[in-house]
Amino acid sequence: MKAVVYQEPFTVSVQDVEDPRIEDPTDVLVWVTSSAICGSDLHMYEGRTDAPSGLVFGHENTGIVEEVGPGVASIKRGDRVSMPFNVACGFCKNCLAGRTGFCLTVNPGFGGGAYGYVSMGPYRGGQAEYLRVPFADFNCLKLPPGDEHENDFAMLADIFPTGYHGATLAQVGPGETVAVFGAGPVGLMAAYSSLIKGAATVFVVDRVESRLRLAERIGAVPVDFSKVDPIEAIREQTQGDGTDKGIDAVGYQATVPEGEEQPAIVLNQLIQTVRATGMIGVVGLYVPGDPGAPSEEAGRGELLVRFGKLFEKGLRIGTGQANVKAYNRQLRDLIIAGRAEPSFVVSKELPLEDAPDAYARFDKREEGYSKVVLKP
Ligand code: NAD
Ligand code: ZN
Repeated sequence: MKAVVYQEPFTVSVQDVEDPRIEDPTDVLVWVTSSAICGSDLHMYEGRTDAPSGLVFGHENTGIVEEVGPGVASIKRGDRVSMPFNVACGFCKNCLAGRTGFCLTVNPGFGGGAYGYVSMGPYRGGQAEYLRVPFADFNCLKLPPGDEHENDFAMLADIFPTGYHGATLAQVGPGETVAVFGAGPVGLMAAYSSLIKGAATVFVVDRVESRLRLAERIGAVPVDFSKVDPIEAIREQTQGDGTDKGIDAVGYQATVPEGEEQPAIVLNQLIQTVRATGMIGVVGLYVPGDPGAPSEEAGRGELLVRFGKLFEKGLRIGTGQANVKAYNRQLRDLIIAGRAEPSFVVSKELPLEDAPDAYARFDKREEGYSKVVLKP
């Protein structure tokens, strides 16, 4: 079958790879209908990880079940399904507690598995015609048959639940003010989720014009950090208090501020932006052991977080991979009920063959490439 295969930094190709097969009785094989490209893929694409060449990318997968292992109880051939990007067993301590992003069975010691992702297990990605799904009863979410809402459902594998996770970590509640740093697909989903949770005002900070316009379209207040100091601007619009809550949807790959040498540390900006005793959800990635990181400290996973300020303000922080299964059923049902339409972030649908070009353009944050969904 055809698949998107990582070659070397800044190069993926579409080539023939061996067809996946049922390996364990609890597996299913899915014929992939949508597999989106994610900001997380760029860490590997840009060569900032030790992803091996030959790795098939794709952790945001939707499709139709093609073949079912003999140990699968609830999933049938022909079912339309969404796969959380986390591969999880469903029976370890973390999965039982709903923390499926940290499954101890698929990744003992560290916790957490994913399709097509370096260091997160041997699971091949779904930017391909077919995908093998382990522990299928646990890792498939059934969708209504047909092809309605395909791009909305395609956001259920990762970024909609991830944005929702950011808002949940920050315990966003009705009537609150929220600052979201980053208007990439994840930041936009965090803003959207905050509004779903009833936030009164959501500020979205970025410098990419088209992304800020999308934030405005969903009812958030755009803040262009290339034009204003976002901390000051948000403070002014919150009677000097700062926001109740904050979400970091940038991570350690923040841009380098003008006239400075080190990248901005978004977490410190949030510590300044959020009012005393507020909460911060961090879903942007911070990866230890990255030789290609924007600064030596970031590469060691040792950012200089202003802990004194954090303590002084009595702030609380939640971090980590999203536990997609904790939210995907509820978010699916919001889509079905017509109360959520996360596909507003999707800017392009492309055949698998166009993946090399799409990766290059998405990597440059080119207009029109904010969220690309590949249609194998
Ligand atoms: P993206 O790269 O498209 O978006 C990041 C955005 O941040 C860009 O629009 C960029 O202009 C903006 N930005 C850069 N520096 C900034 C600064 N100083 N202040 C404000 N904005 C700034 O990526 P994405 O797909 O939206 O993903 C965002 C992050 O979330 C990535 O680190 C990704 O790996 C991570 N992620 C985490 C999870 C999880 O489970 N926790 C899941 C998916 C993605
Ligand atoms: Zn993703």
